[in-house]
Amino acid sequence: MITKKTLKLSLKSLRDFGKKRLPDEVLIELDERDECPEDIVHYMCNPDQLGIQLLFIPEEYGGLGGSTFDVYLICEEMARIDLGVATSLFATFLGSDPITVGATPEQKKLWLSRIANEGVLFAYGATEPEAGSDLGSLKTTADRVMQDGKVVGYKINGSKQWISNGGIADLYTVLANTPSGPSWFVVEKGAKGFTHDKPENKHGIRLSNTAALSLVDTYVDADRLIGGVEGQGLLQAQAVFGYTRLMVAAFGLGAGWSALDRAIPYSTKRIQAGSPLSEKQGYTHKLIVSNVVRLEAGRAFIEETAERIDAGEGSLNTEGAIAKYLSTEAGNSAAEASIQALGGYGYTHEYMVEKIKRDVRITTIYEGTSEIMEMTISRDRWQLHLKTRGQHYHERAKQAELLHAAHPNVGADVAALALHALAEVMEKARAGRLTRYQHILLRIGEWIAYAEASATLARRGALMAEGRLNEKANDRFDATALAAISRIFAREAAMKVAHDGLRWMAGAGGVNDSEIPAFEVALNLQAIHRAQNGLIADMDYVADVLYGRVQKRPAEQLTEVALHS
Ligand SMILES: Cc1cc2nc3c(=O)[nH]c(=O)nc-3n(C[C@H](O)[C@H](O)[C@H](O)COP(=O)(O)OP(=O)(O)OC[C@H]3O[C@@H](n4cnc5c(N)ncnc54)[C@H](O)[C@@H]3O)c2cc1C
Repeated sequence: MITKKTLKLSLKSLRDFGKKRLPDEVLIELDERDECPEDIVHYMCNPDQLGIQLLFIPEEYGGLGGSTFDVYLICEEMARIDLGVATSLFATFLGSDPITVGATPEQKKLWLSRIANEGVLFAYGATEPEAGSDLGSLKTTADRVMQDGKVVGYKINGSKQWISNGGIADLYTVLANTPSGPSWFVVEKGAKGFTHDKPENKHGIRLSNTAALSLVDTYVDADRLIGGVEGQGLLQAQAVFGYTRLMVAAFGLGAGWSALDRAIPYSTKRIQAGSPLSEKQGYTHKLIVSNVVRLEAGRAFIEETAERIDAGEGSLNTEGAIAKYLSTEAGNSAAEASIQALGGYGYTHEYMVEKIKRDVRITTIYEGTSEIMEMTISRDRWQLHLKTRGQHYHERAKQAELLHAAHPNVGADVAALALHALAEVMEKARAGRLTRYQHILLRIGEWIAYAEASATLARRGALMAEGRLNEKANDRFDATALAAISRIFAREAAMKVAHDGLRWMAGAGGVNDSEIPAFEVALNLQAIHRAQNGLIADMDYVADVLYGRVQKRPAEQLTEVALHS
């Protein structure tokens, strides 16, 4: 187990390494040259140097056996340095995942020990030209090679597309169709018939190597079939989605914060109309505070899900999807706003926010696009809605109301309004069979993510207030600031669920003109509107915290604001 002290040290070494070896000028130059700094990637994976990969390798194979929580924090830190380099390290992590979850003990020993001891780089070869979001339609084949009636090996034929580390990895996990279905194989660099294309000329993460792979009659021994049983490939991939998506969520978080951490100091120095931009509310609240709030909602969801995975609650794929969806969309939006915050300077290559914006864009695409996340979230929770006869989110709302009784200033009352409204919207969709419209199904996914995250953030605020937050948790904000952040997000979530819900239920023909007033009552629109009271005051407070000008308001005064909202 990694202690808090060891983790802090690892994070610090990583930060120091980034400052020394990848300062802004170097990053900008590598980005312009479209070059993957292979030496740096190898240094980071060298067990005698940084050895970052040791964190995700179990102790029995020579690693440090980091928890999900540890890996999230390291991923966030890597993304703050450079998302391309982070992607390269993540590719080894992803590439070894089918092994970690599905390999035989001998295979685990062989491959995981090599990652730990030799720092070999892996690539994860799933995507194909015609199989992206829908991996089931993959065309790469693995035909059995028989000898004396026994399977002794496989011949793999096909191509893979957009593979991170595709041109620089030592080992590749490749998904291919065997006679019994999709299966993972380990293929070594240089295997006969196995080639990679030149690196892709990408929009962002230009420090990562992304290349297409081609396999023509590439032979692998039977012991390269991960797990030794055909047809387990998609199950093995799905078994870790909750976990891997949390890591990409952390990338969104790290990149988004990295952009804002440039915009915030910039705005204190940039004088326009006689005063710094940081003193202009129309600037801070639109460009900075609202993005901080969404990022921290993403963080709350990541941390809670990581803790639950570490506690053995299973793979939590839907929670991983919610964390990824919220954090990567928030990261994108934060980086976009940071360009705006720097004005013309932000639009030039010289200022890093432009690069960060291009980099973070990938996080809503790889490891499952945002639309696929919406679908995953919606389908899973829809089943819960049906199973509980529409009570699932009313029950969750009641839990939030209980939390509010104990902690009246963390926005749990408003989170409860969002959750009740969500239950009403889903019930309306069920009654009108509106999920036959895919757009409605996906929008429900978005509302679920917001409503659930509002409750999670309120719980985080309460844990922080009680001093019970995970000791490794990011503690950038104290309990008072976190409570304000939570109230702001809960208001946004409630408005989104109720207003967008009403809009799309009516838009899909599920609520006719005469039914609208009753539906507005069911959604508790008036209470949700009243809950917006105090929003500007809370945003002012968060801005003051961010700019280090907190005239600390007494806790009671903040509670007052919450109670009146
Ligand atoms: C830089 C980079 C690195 C990558 N690294 C790797 C890697 O290491 N290994 C690997 O295996 N893959 C990798 N990928 C591939 C990545 O995971 C896929 O690009 C991603 O899963 C989306 O697949 P696609 O590109 O085929 O898009 P598509 O699946 O064709 O999607 C295109 C658009 O349609 C939407 N869409 C798709 N299906 C539906 C649907 N049913 N309903 C509604 N909308 C839908 C999507 O949300 C998206 O907006 C990488 C990609 C990039 C760009």
